Amino acid sequence: MSVWQKEIGFALLLFLVALISGSLTGHILLFMFLLTLGLWIRQLLQISRFERWISMGGRGEYPRVSGIWEDIYHHVYRIKKNERKRKKKLGKMVDQFRKSTEALPDAAVVLGPSDEIEWTNKAARDVLGLHQSDKGQRIPNLIRFPEFIRYLKSGNYHEAVILPAPVDHRITLAVRVVKYGAGLRLLLAQDVTQLKKMERMRKDFVANVSHELRTPLTVLKGYLETMRDMDDGNSPLLTHSVLQMQGQTERMQHLVDDLLLLTRLETQQKKVQCVDVPALLQQICKESDALETAAGRIELLLETDTRITGEEQELRSAFTNLLGNALKYSPDDSTVTIRWHRSESAVILDVKDQGEGIVAAEIPRITERFYRVEVKRSKKVSGTGLGLAIVKHVLMRHDAKLNIVSEPGKGSCFSCCFPVTRACR
Ligand code: ADP
Repeated sequence: MSVWQKEIGFALLLFLVALISGSLTGHILLFMFLLTLGLWIRQLLQISRFERWISMGGRGEYPRVSGIWEDIYHHVYRIKKNERKRKKKLGKMVDQFRKSTEALPDAAVVLGPSDEIEWTNKAARDVLGLHQSDKGQRIPNLIRFPEFIRYLKSGNYHEAVILPAPVDHRITLAVRVVKYGAGLRLLLAQDVTQLKKMERMRKDFVANVSHELRTPLTVLKGYLETMRDMDDGNSPLLTHSVLQMQGQTERMQHLVDDLLLLTRLETQQKKVQCVDVPALLQQICKESDALETAAGRIELLLETDTRITGEEQELRSAFTNLLGNALKYSPDDSTVTIRWHRSESAVILDVKDQGEGIVAAEIPRITERFYRVEVKRSKKVSGTGLGLAIVKHVLMRHDAKLNIVSEPGKGSCFSCCFPVTRACR
């Protein structure tokens, strides 16, 4: 029998006793009233006991009671006990999380909706020069680098911003913000001094080697030119060898030029101007059209006269590379279409060919340095594998994106999408 059934049975029994006693004595109403009063006082006492116990936090064993009240005490006691267990577990977890984030080598700062500091770990205090007492202060008031303030304000946290550490300018930090929860942000700063140093060494090494290779190459080319002039054609082996050597030195020259250009793109400041892209495209097409393999193949569609802010020489390199590839990787009698047009949000250059195309899996890789797709071709196509890396770099420096749509056997379309904010007069 359930407690409820017992409780109701007990009450009914009491009512029955009161009813019989009342009818025997002729005071039914009195008996009934006394019974109700008794039951009411009993419940009131139980409620008052319960209230006392719960007001003390419901801790410890509950008072000895019976019936439905025992069940109520038991349920509340169980809920309280579980809650305490959960709280303890949560506290332990928070404690562990705090300890682990304190031990993190990277600086971590929790920021509130108005950029105020809510929490910092030890590394943040060491490397960013923050103190425990800075809690509640706005971080732009403490880290005052303009690029950091711009980054924080921008709300675009896809990439990290590189800063010198406020406590020691010889330390380079990569600072990133990660959004989480309701308006909260986690600021992470990683020491990338060594990485940046190695990157600089790599750039310097490539620049120096490429530069040093220029002189011997020029000498080699000069002598090969002389040998070719002197060749009377009596020795086919000599003629062949000289031609091969000339081809290879030419290739090396291209490699060195491309590497130097890439180094320049990585290290030099931009000289920004308003570039007349339609005129530039006309010039590039004219120059390419003069080549034997490209004559009559280029179709230029200038649908807008929009100019864009940028660096003319860099844009020339990028566009020439794209056009060169379109001509190289398509049949000698096919058309290559160059289209300069404008949409609502972008100014776009499409370079479209009807050539061999690229398989989907290769597309993400072709902009990597020295990456060339292995394709069995009827003619040998020379290249350095650096052309699209240059295009990617130039576009990055112009806040533009390279979109590649290609289908093997049908052709490719390389689109350079410049943000419309770059349009100028
Ligand atoms: P390169 O042309 O000197 O090899 P790129 O970096 O310009 O180097 O191009 C990388 C690779 O991408 C090329 O080797 C080629 O396989 C592929 N590719 C580039 N442009 C095209 C195109 N228009 N059509 C087909 N394949 C292309």
